[in-house]
Amino acid sequence: MQKFYKNLSLWLIVALASLFLFHYCKQSPDRHHAVAYTEFLKKVDSGALTSVTIVDNTVSWKATDGTLQQTVVPLTSDALQRLLGKNVTVRAEASSQPPWFLLALLSWLPFLLLGVGWFFYSQKGGGQGGGGRVMAFGKSRARLINPEESKIKLDDVAGIDEAKDEVAEIIDFLKKPQKFVEAGARIPTGVLLYGEPGTGKTLLAKAIAGEAGVPFFSISGSNFVEMYVGIGASRVRDLFNEGKKKAPCIIFIDEIDAVGRHRSSGAGSGGNDEREQTLNQLLVEMDGFEANDHVIVIAATNRQDILDPALLRPGRFDRQVMVPLPDVGGREKILKVHARNTKIGEDVNWQTIAKGTPGFSGAQLASLVNEAALLMTRRNSRAITMEILEAAKDKVLMGAERRSLIITDREKRITACHEAGHTLVAWMLPGTDPVHKVTIIPRGRALGVTMQLPEEERNALDRTYLFHTLCTLLGGRIAEEIKFNQMTTGAGNDLDRVSDLARKMVCEWGMSEAVGPMTFRASNPLSSQPAQIMSEQTAMLIDSEVKKLVQSAYDTARLVVVDHQDILEALTTALVEQETITRTDIQAIVDQVGAR
Ligand code: ADP
Ligand code: ZN
Repeated sequence: MQKFYKNLSLWLIVALASLFLFHYCKQSPDRHHAVAYTEFLKKVDSGALTSVTIVDNTVSWKATDGTLQQTVVPLTSDALQRLLGKNVTVRAEASSQPPWFLLALLSWLPFLLLGVGWFFYSQKGGGQGGGGRVMAFGKSRARLINPEESKIKLDDVAGIDEAKDEVAEIIDFLKKPQKFVEAGARIPTGVLLYGEPGTGKTLLAKAIAGEAGVPFFSISGSNFVEMYVGIGASRVRDLFNEGKKKAPCIIFIDEIDAVGRHRSSGAGSGGNDEREQTLNQLLVEMDGFEANDHVIVIAATNRQDILDPALLRPGRFDRQVMVPLPDVGGREKILKVHARNTKIGEDVNWQTIAKGTPGFSGAQLASLVNEAALLMTRRNSRAITMEILEAAKDKVLMGAERRSLIITDREKRITACHEAGHTLVAWMLPGTDPVHKVTIIPRGRALGVTMQLPEEERNALDRTYLFHTLCTLLGGRIAEEIKFNQMTTGAGNDLDRVSDLARKMVCEWGMSEAVGPMTFRASNPLSSQPAQIMSEQTAMLIDSEVKKLVQSAYDTARLVVVDHQDILEALTTALVEQETITRTDIQAIVDQVGAR
C-alpha cells in the first residue's frame, strides 16, 4: 500500500513538472516583436497600418515585412480614436483563456494534494501497524492554526471594547498559567461568545489565541453532526485529546447551537440521537478537564436562547460574553481597521459613513471597505473617495444589482409607483427616517427599494415614529391601489413587516391602551421559553387592537397619498426614467410640483 502511494506521488510530481515545462517552452519564444508606443503612433499617423487586433490593452498587427508586432497601450490614451480616424480595421478580442491543461490541472489539484497528503500521512504513521488509519472518520476534522501562523491580534478587533475587556483575563491565563495555578484562582474552562452573525466572534477568538501565542483549533458545530451515528461523539473525543496534547491552547467551536440545542426542543424530539450523543460527549469532556489541562474552549452562537441549559452550568460555558452589533463609534473604528492598508482620499469622512450604516455588522463593514477597494481598482482611481464608499455601501446594503432580470414596462411602472408610495408617505409624515435613495433596479430578491436612513442612532423608539413607520410601509400598497386599482404580490414583504411591527407595539411595548402596559410573549417552537399564558379574551383583544392599529395607519397613509397624487405621479415618472433617485431629486420634485 505505502509503496504504491510513494510511487504514485513520484509520478505525480514528474507529471506536474513536465506540464509546467511544456507550458513554459510554448510561451517563451515570443512571436510578437514589441514596439514602443510612440513608434506605434507614428505608424498609425503615417498610414502604415491597415488592420490591428486588440486584446485587453495590447494592440498587435502584421508589419509590411511580415513580422508580427505589438505594443502595449497606456490606459489613458486615445489610441482607438486615432486608429478609427485613420480608417484602420480594428478587431477586438476577449483576453485569451488560460490553456486547457492549466484549467484541468487546477480542477485536479485538490485530488493531487489529497494524494500527496495521504502519502505523507502514511509515511508518518509508519511505525504503528496499518489498521485504523484508513478509518479516519472519527478524527476531529478540526483546523489547527499554530502560533507561528496566527497573525490576528486584539488590535484587529475593533468597536467591541467591552467584550475585549472580558476576555483579557483569559489571555493572561494562557500566557502564564502557572501564575494562576499558584494563586489558586479558578480558571474558566468554557467561554461562550454570543451575538448576531458577523459581529466578530470568530475574529475575537482568533485574536485571543494570537495574543497569547497558543495553538488554535477550530471546528464548526455542524461538522460534528453528520449522517453516521457515533461519529460526532468520537470527533469530540479526538478533538479534546488533540487539544490536551497541545496545551495551553484554544478550542473554538463555531455554531455550537448545531450540537448544543435544547435537548427536548425541536420537532419530533428524541429523534436526533446522534446530536444528543455528541452533546453528551462534549459535556463529559468539559467536566473531565483538570485544572492543569490549560485548554480553554470558546464557543460561538447567535442563538444563545436555544442552547441546552446543561451547557451553561458552572464548569462548562459558565462565562458568557455578548458580542453586540457596533454602535456608530464602533463602526467608525472597524471601518478604519479595515482601511488601514488602502489608500484613502482626502475627502473621506469615516464618521459620515459610520452614521450612514446603522445596523451594519463588522463583517458587513469589512465587505464595504473591500467593495470600495475593488471599485477603486476597477475605476483606475488612485484612492478610495467618498463617492466610491457610497456606491460600495449601496452594494452591501442592497445586494448586487440584478440588471439582467427582465422586467416588462408595466411591471416597471407598478414597481416605480409602489416605491414612490413609500417615499411620498415617508416624506410627508413628520419624524420618520429621511428617505436617502429610492431605486427600482432589482437587488437581491426585491424589485425595488426605498432606503431610509436615520439621522442619528435611535435607541428608544417612540410611538409616533413607529406609527409613521407602519404608514410608510403601507404606502407602497396604497399607491398601487390608487393608481392601478389592483393589488400585486410586491407588497408581501411590507405586509410581513407591518404585521410584525404592529404586534410588537401591542404585545411587547404596551402601546395599546386597551391591552395596557403588559407584555405577551407568543410561543416560539425554537425557544426554550414557554409562551406566556393569556386568557382567550386577552388573545382576542390583542388581535383586535393590532388590527385597529394597522387600519388606522392605513387610513393615515391613504389620506397622504390621495392628497398628493400629483407628487406621486411625478415621483413615479422620475423613477421610471432614472431608475434611481436621491433625496435631492425628491426635494426638487416636491418643490416643483408644490409650486404649480
Ligand atoms: P462571527 O464569527 O461573529 O459571525 P466573524 O468573526 O467571522 O463573525 O467576522 C467576519 C469578518 O468580519 C471578520 O473576519 C472581520 O474581517 C470582520 N469583522 C467582524 N467584526 C469585526 C470587528 N469587531 N472588528 C473588525 N473586523 C470585524
Ligand atoms: Zn414595498
